[in-house]
Amino acid sequence: MPWMIPRLLKNLWAGPVTWRYPSTPRIPISGGRGTLSHDAERCDLCGDCVRLCPARALELDEAAKKLSYNPFRCIYCLVCADSCQHGAVTALPAHEVPAPQPQMRMWK
Ligand code: SF4
Ligand code: SF4
Repeated sequence: MPWMIPRLLKNLWAGPVTWRYPSTPRIPISGGRGTLSHDAERCDLCGDCVRLCPARALELDEAAKKLSYNPFRCIYCLVCADSCQHGAVTALPAHEVPAPQPQMRMWK
Protein backbone atom coordinates (compact mmCIF):
# COMPACT_ATOMS: atom_id res chain seq x y z
CA MET A 1 0.00 0.00 0.00
CA PRO A 2 2.69 2.62 0.71
CA TRP A 3 3.87 2.29 -2.88
CA MET A 4 0.58 3.86 -3.95
CA ILE A 5 1.15 7.12 -2.08
CA PRO A 6 3.30 8.88 -4.73
CA ARG A 7 0.80 7.98 -7.43
CA LEU A 8 -2.09 9.06 -5.23
CA LEU A 9 -0.47 12.45 -4.58
CA LYS A 10 0.32 12.87 -8.27
CA ASN A 11 -3.27 12.13 -9.26
CA LEU A 12 -4.63 14.49 -6.64
CA TRP A 13 -2.90 17.45 -8.32
CA ALA A 14 -3.06 16.31 -11.92
CA GLY A 15 -6.60 17.54 -12.60
CA PRO A 16 -9.28 15.72 -14.58
CA VAL A 17 -8.31 13.62 -17.59
CA THR A 18 -11.66 14.24 -19.28
CA TRP A 19 -12.92 17.38 -21.05
CA ARG A 20 -16.07 19.21 -20.07
CA TYR A 21 -17.61 18.53 -23.46
CA PRO A 22 -19.35 20.36 -25.09
CA SER A 23 -18.42 23.54 -23.17
CA THR A 24 -14.78 22.68 -23.90
CA PRO A 25 -14.45 21.97 -27.62
CA ARG A 26 -13.05 18.57 -28.47
CA ILE A 27 -9.75 18.60 -30.36
CA PRO A 28 -10.22 16.85 -33.72
CA ILE A 29 -8.19 13.69 -34.22
CA SER A 30 -6.13 13.54 -37.39
CA GLY A 31 -7.88 11.28 -39.89
CA GLY A 32 -10.99 11.09 -37.70
CA ARG A 33 -14.49 10.87 -39.17
CA GLY A 34 -16.28 14.01 -38.18
CA THR A 35 -19.17 16.06 -39.49
CA LEU A 36 -20.21 15.30 -43.06
CA SER A 37 -20.07 18.11 -45.56
CA HIS A 38 -22.16 18.12 -48.73
CA ASP A 39 -21.46 20.22 -51.79
CA ALA A 40 -24.85 20.81 -53.44
CA GLU A 41 -23.19 22.22 -56.55
CA ARG A 42 -21.55 18.87 -57.27
CA CYS A 43 -24.56 16.73 -56.38
CA ASP A 44 -26.76 15.57 -59.26
CA LEU A 45 -29.24 13.74 -56.99
CA CYS A 46 -28.31 10.35 -58.45
CA GLY A 47 -29.25 8.66 -55.17
CA ASP A 48 -26.25 6.29 -54.96
CA CYS A 49 -25.42 7.45 -51.44
CA VAL A 50 -29.05 7.00 -50.35
CA ARG A 51 -29.23 3.44 -51.66
CA LEU A 52 -25.94 2.40 -50.05
CA CYS A 53 -26.26 4.11 -46.67
CA PRO A 54 -26.45 1.23 -44.15
CA ALA A 55 -28.06 3.41 -41.46
CA ARG A 56 -30.75 4.90 -43.73
CA ALA A 57 -29.58 8.33 -42.68
CA LEU A 58 -30.13 9.79 -46.13
CA GLU A 59 -33.45 10.45 -47.86
CA LEU A 60 -34.03 11.47 -51.44
CA ASP A 61 -37.27 13.07 -52.56
CA GLU A 62 -36.98 12.76 -56.32
CA ALA A 63 -40.16 14.72 -57.03
CA ALA A 64 -39.07 17.68 -54.94
CA LYS A 65 -35.37 17.21 -55.88
CA LYS A 66 -34.39 17.25 -52.22
CA LEU A 67 -31.68 15.28 -50.45
CA SER A 68 -31.74 15.25 -46.65
CA TYR A 69 -29.37 13.89 -44.03
CA ASN A 70 -30.11 12.75 -40.49
CA PRO A 71 -26.95 13.10 -38.36
CA PHE A 72 -28.68 11.21 -35.53
CA ARG A 73 -28.88 8.05 -37.62
CA CYS A 74 -25.47 8.41 -39.24
CA ILE A 75 -22.76 5.96 -38.13
CA TYR A 76 -20.00 7.84 -40.01
CA CYS A 77 -19.02 4.86 -42.10
CA LEU A 78 -18.37 7.19 -45.08
CA VAL A 79 -19.95 4.80 -47.56
CA CYS A 80 -21.77 7.85 -48.97
CA ALA A 81 -18.50 9.69 -49.52
CA ASP A 82 -16.88 6.65 -51.14
CA SER A 83 -19.90 5.98 -53.34
CA CYS A 84 -20.38 9.53 -54.60
CA GLN A 85 -18.83 9.73 -58.03
CA HIS A 86 -18.91 13.53 -57.96
CA GLY A 87 -17.03 13.97 -54.68
CA ALA A 88 -19.98 15.82 -53.18
CA VAL A 89 -19.66 14.27 -49.70
CA THR A 90 -16.59 14.71 -47.52
CA ALA A 91 -15.87 14.22 -43.83
CA LEU A 92 -14.59 17.22 -41.91
CA PRO A 93 -12.30 16.81 -38.90
CA ALA A 94 -14.77 18.74 -36.71
CA HIS A 95 -17.23 16.80 -34.57
CA GLU A 96 -20.98 17.18 -34.51
CA VAL A 97 -22.30 19.25 -31.63
CA PRO A 98 -24.96 17.71 -29.38
CA ALA A 99 -28.55 18.75 -29.99
CA PRO A 100 -31.66 18.25 -27.85
CA GLN A 101 -33.88 17.14 -30.74
CA PRO A 102 -33.15 14.97 -33.78
CA GLN A 103 -33.13 17.17 -36.86
CA MET A 104 -32.94 16.38 -40.54
CA ARG A 105 -30.52 18.52 -42.49
CA MET A 106 -31.28 19.57 -46.04
CA TRP A 107 -28.32 18.78 -48.25
CA LYS A 108 -29.99 19.86 -51.47
S1 SF4 B 1 -21.55 8.19 -43.29
FE1 SF4 B 1 -22.51 6.14 -43.54
S2 SF4 B 1 -24.27 6.22 -42.19
FE2 SF4 B 1 -23.63 8.33 -42.45
S3 SF4 B 1 -24.89 9.12 -44.12
FE3 SF4 B 1 -22.96 8.35 -45.01
S4 SF4 B 1 -23.38 6.22 -45.61
FE4 SF4 B 1 -25.00 6.87 -44.19
S1 SF4 C 1 -24.24 13.21 -52.85
FE1 SF4 C 1 -23.27 12.14 -54.58
S2 SF4 C 1 -24.05 10.02 -54.48
FE2 SF4 C 1 -25.40 11.31 -53.22
S3 SF4 C 1 -27.10 11.93 -54.55
FE3 SF4 C 1 -25.54 13.56 -54.65
S4 SF4 C 1 -24.24 13.03 -56.40
FE4 SF4 C 1 -25.40 11.18 -55.88
